[in-house]
Amino acid sequence: MAKLYFRYGAMNSGKSTALLQAAYNYEERGQRILLAKPEIDTKGADQISSRLGVERTVDFLIRPEDDVRALFAEHRRRVQEAGADALIPDTGADVACLLVDEAQFLTAEQVDDLLRISVEDGIPVLAYGIRTDFQTRAFPGSARLMELAHSLEELKTICRCGSKALFNARLVGGRFVFDGDQVAIDELSADRVTYESMCARCYLRESAGRLR
Ligand SMILES: [Zn+2]
Repeated sequence: MAKLYFRYGAMNSGKSTALLQAAYNYEERGQRILLAKPEIDTKGADQISSRLGVERTVDFLIRPEDDVRALFAEHRRRVQEAGADALIPDTGADVACLLVDEAQFLTAEQVDDLLRISVEDGIPVLAYGIRTDFQTRAFPGSARLMELAHSLEELKTICRCGSKALFNARLVGGRFVFDGDQVAIDELSADRVTYESMCARCYLRESAGRLR
Protein backbone atom coordinates (compact mmCIF):
# COMPACT_ATOMS: atom_id res chain seq x y z
CA MET A 1 0.00 0.00 0.00
CA ALA A 2 1.20 3.49 -0.82
CA LYS A 3 1.95 5.59 2.25
CA LEU A 4 2.06 9.17 3.46
CA TYR A 5 5.52 10.11 4.73
CA PHE A 6 6.36 13.21 6.77
CA ARG A 7 10.02 14.21 6.93
CA TYR A 8 10.33 17.09 9.32
CA GLY A 9 12.97 19.13 11.04
CA ALA A 10 14.05 22.55 12.22
CA MET A 11 15.03 25.15 9.64
CA ASN A 12 18.26 24.46 7.78
CA SER A 13 17.95 20.73 8.32
CA GLY A 14 18.33 20.10 4.60
CA LYS A 15 14.69 19.32 3.84
CA SER A 16 14.70 20.72 0.31
CA THR A 17 18.01 18.99 -0.43
CA ALA A 18 16.54 15.67 0.78
CA LEU A 19 13.41 16.26 -1.33
CA LEU A 20 15.40 16.99 -4.49
CA GLN A 21 17.57 13.93 -3.82
CA ALA A 22 14.42 11.76 -3.49
CA ALA A 23 13.12 13.22 -6.79
CA TYR A 24 16.43 12.42 -8.46
CA ASN A 25 16.37 8.83 -7.16
CA TYR A 26 12.95 8.21 -8.72
CA GLU A 27 13.86 9.81 -12.03
CA GLU A 28 17.14 7.91 -12.24
CA ARG A 29 15.01 4.76 -12.45
CA GLY A 30 12.91 6.28 -15.26
CA GLN A 31 9.95 7.06 -12.99
CA ARG A 32 7.85 10.22 -13.17
CA ILE A 33 7.21 12.30 -10.06
CA LEU A 34 5.19 15.43 -9.34
CA LEU A 35 6.52 18.31 -7.22
CA ALA A 36 4.25 20.72 -5.35
CA LYS A 37 4.42 23.36 -2.65
CA PRO A 38 2.05 25.83 -0.95
CA GLU A 39 1.90 29.25 -2.54
CA ILE A 40 2.32 31.10 0.79
CA ASP A 41 6.07 30.64 0.66
CA THR A 42 7.31 33.77 -1.08
CA LYS A 43 11.05 33.24 -0.93
CA GLY A 44 11.28 31.08 -4.05
CA ALA A 45 7.88 31.56 -5.75
CA ASP A 46 7.51 28.30 -7.73
CA GLN A 47 11.05 27.03 -7.11
CA ILE A 48 12.33 24.42 -4.71
CA SER A 49 15.85 25.52 -3.91
CA SER A 50 18.36 23.75 -1.73
CA ARG A 51 21.20 25.45 0.05
CA LEU A 52 23.58 23.35 -2.02
CA GLY A 53 22.48 25.33 -5.08
CA VAL A 54 20.21 22.81 -6.78
CA GLU A 55 16.94 24.32 -7.96
CA ARG A 56 13.75 22.99 -9.57
CA THR A 57 10.42 24.42 -10.63
CA VAL A 58 7.38 22.76 -9.06
CA ASP A 59 4.66 21.15 -11.18
CA PHE A 60 1.97 22.96 -9.25
CA LEU A 61 1.47 25.44 -6.42
CA ILE A 62 -1.19 24.87 -3.75
CA ARG A 63 -3.26 27.87 -2.63
CA PRO A 64 -5.00 27.77 0.77
CA GLU A 65 -8.43 27.14 -0.78
CA ASP A 66 -7.25 24.47 -3.24
CA ASP A 67 -8.50 20.88 -3.33
CA VAL A 68 -5.14 19.12 -3.41
CA ARG A 69 -6.54 15.77 -4.50
CA ALA A 70 -8.27 17.33 -7.52
CA LEU A 71 -5.13 19.31 -8.41
CA PHE A 72 -3.03 16.18 -8.15
CA ALA A 73 -5.50 14.19 -10.32
CA GLU A 74 -5.35 16.89 -13.01
CA HIS A 75 -1.54 16.83 -13.17
CA ARG A 76 -1.44 13.04 -12.94
CA ARG A 77 -3.72 12.83 -16.01
CA ARG A 78 -1.30 15.06 -17.91
CA VAL A 79 1.57 12.67 -17.09
CA GLN A 80 -0.51 9.63 -18.08
CA GLU A 81 -1.48 11.20 -21.42
CA ALA A 82 2.10 12.19 -22.20
CA GLY A 83 3.23 8.66 -21.26
CA ALA A 84 0.67 7.07 -23.59
CA ASP A 85 2.01 9.14 -26.50
CA ALA A 86 5.65 8.40 -25.73
CA LEU A 87 7.77 6.30 -28.08
CA ILE A 88 8.49 3.84 -25.29
CA PRO A 89 4.99 3.44 -23.79
CA ASP A 90 6.05 2.00 -20.43
CA THR A 91 8.35 4.89 -19.59
CA GLY A 92 6.82 7.37 -17.18
CA ALA A 93 3.24 6.38 -17.99
CA ASP A 94 2.09 7.26 -14.51
CA VAL A 95 3.18 9.19 -11.44
CA ALA A 96 5.37 7.18 -9.06
CA CYS A 97 5.29 9.68 -6.21
CA LEU A 98 4.07 13.13 -5.10
CA LEU A 99 6.68 15.28 -3.32
CA VAL A 100 5.51 18.28 -1.29
CA ASP A 101 7.91 20.95 -0.01
CA GLU A 102 7.11 23.45 2.79
CA ALA A 103 4.25 21.17 3.87
CA GLN A 104 3.91 23.03 7.19
CA PHE A 105 1.93 25.69 5.29
CA LEU A 106 -0.78 23.29 4.08
CA THR A 107 -4.17 23.41 5.79
CA ALA A 108 -5.32 20.39 7.85
CA GLU A 109 -7.86 19.59 5.09
CA GLN A 110 -5.10 19.55 2.48
CA VAL A 111 -3.09 17.09 4.58
CA ASP A 112 -6.25 14.94 4.74
CA ASP A 113 -6.14 15.04 0.93
CA LEU A 114 -2.52 13.83 0.95
CA LEU A 115 -3.57 10.78 2.99
CA ARG A 116 -6.38 10.07 0.50
CA ILE A 117 -3.95 10.38 -2.42
CA SER A 118 -1.68 7.77 -0.84
CA VAL A 119 -4.35 5.34 0.34
CA GLU A 120 -7.19 5.73 -2.16
CA ASP A 121 -5.28 6.79 -5.28
CA GLY A 122 -2.36 4.49 -4.48
CA ILE A 123 0.42 7.05 -4.95
CA PRO A 124 3.07 7.52 -2.23
CA VAL A 125 3.24 11.07 -0.86
CA LEU A 126 6.47 12.45 0.62
CA ALA A 127 5.84 15.67 2.55
CA TYR A 128 8.73 17.76 3.88
CA GLY A 129 8.32 20.55 6.42
CA ILE A 130 9.22 22.41 9.56
CA ARG A 131 7.66 21.09 12.75
CA THR A 132 7.21 24.29 14.77
CA ASP A 133 7.19 28.07 14.31
CA PHE A 134 9.41 30.62 16.08
CA GLN A 135 7.14 30.42 19.16
CA THR A 136 7.55 26.62 19.40
CA ARG A 137 4.00 25.96 18.18
CA ALA A 138 3.20 23.42 15.47
CA PHE A 139 2.31 24.78 12.05
CA PRO A 140 -1.20 23.65 10.98
CA GLY A 141 0.09 21.39 8.20
CA SER A 142 2.75 19.84 10.43
CA ALA A 143 0.30 19.18 13.27
CA ARG A 144 -2.00 17.28 10.90
CA LEU A 145 0.92 15.42 9.30
CA MET A 146 2.08 14.31 12.77
CA GLU A 147 -1.42 12.90 13.27
CA LEU A 148 -1.88 11.21 9.89
CA ALA A 149 1.46 10.19 8.38
CA HIS A 150 2.19 6.46 8.19
CA SER A 151 5.85 7.28 8.65
CA LEU A 152 7.60 10.11 10.50
CA GLU A 153 11.27 10.80 9.93
CA GLU A 154 13.25 13.56 11.61
CA LEU A 155 15.88 15.39 9.59
CA LYS A 156 18.45 16.62 12.06
CA THR A 157 20.50 19.77 12.29
CA ILE A 158 22.84 21.15 14.92
CA CYS A 159 22.41 24.08 17.34
CA ARG A 160 25.26 26.59 17.84
CA CYS A 161 26.21 24.61 20.99
CA GLY A 162 26.49 21.30 19.16
CA SER A 163 23.28 19.74 20.48
CA LYS A 164 20.47 18.73 18.14
CA ALA A 165 18.37 21.75 17.15
CA LEU A 166 14.68 21.52 18.03
CA PHE A 167 13.29 25.04 17.62
CA ASN A 168 13.58 27.98 15.21
CA ALA A 169 14.34 31.31 16.89
CA ARG A 170 13.47 34.44 14.86
CA LEU A 171 15.80 37.38 14.52
CA VAL A 172 14.80 40.77 13.16
CA GLY A 173 17.75 42.90 12.22
CA GLY A 174 19.99 40.47 14.12
CA ARG A 175 18.05 40.58 17.42
CA PHE A 176 15.93 37.74 18.78
CA VAL A 177 12.19 38.43 18.87
CA PHE A 178 9.54 36.23 20.46
CA ASP A 179 6.38 38.13 19.41
CA GLY A 180 4.91 38.48 15.95
CA ASP A 181 2.97 36.69 13.20
CA GLN A 182 3.54 32.99 12.60
CA VAL A 183 4.74 33.71 9.08
CA ALA A 184 6.85 36.85 8.57
CA ILE A 185 5.62 37.83 5.12
CA ASP A 186 6.14 41.58 5.36
CA GLU A 187 8.00 42.26 2.13
CA LEU A 188 9.78 45.31 3.55
CA SER A 189 11.20 43.42 6.50
CA ALA A 190 11.76 40.14 4.64
CA ASP A 191 15.49 40.64 4.32
CA ARG A 192 15.78 41.62 7.98
CA VAL A 193 14.03 38.48 9.26
CA THR A 194 16.28 35.48 9.75
CA TYR A 195 16.05 32.30 11.79
CA GLU A 196 18.45 30.30 13.90
CA SER A 197 17.85 26.61 14.58
CA MET A 198 18.38 26.01 18.29
CA CYS A 199 18.26 23.35 20.95
CA ALA A 200 15.73 23.81 23.75
CA ARG A 201 18.40 24.96 26.23
CA CYS A 202 19.76 27.72 23.99
CA TYR A 203 16.25 28.80 22.98
CA LEU A 204 15.14 29.11 26.61
CA ARG A 205 18.28 31.11 27.40
CA GLU A 206 17.57 33.61 24.57
CA SER A 207 13.85 33.84 25.39
CA ALA A 208 14.48 34.24 29.14
CA GLY A 209 12.49 31.11 29.81
CA ARG A 210 9.57 31.87 27.52
CA LEU A 211 8.19 29.19 25.22
CA ARG A 212 5.20 30.86 23.50
ZN1 LIG B 1 22.07 24.79 21.90
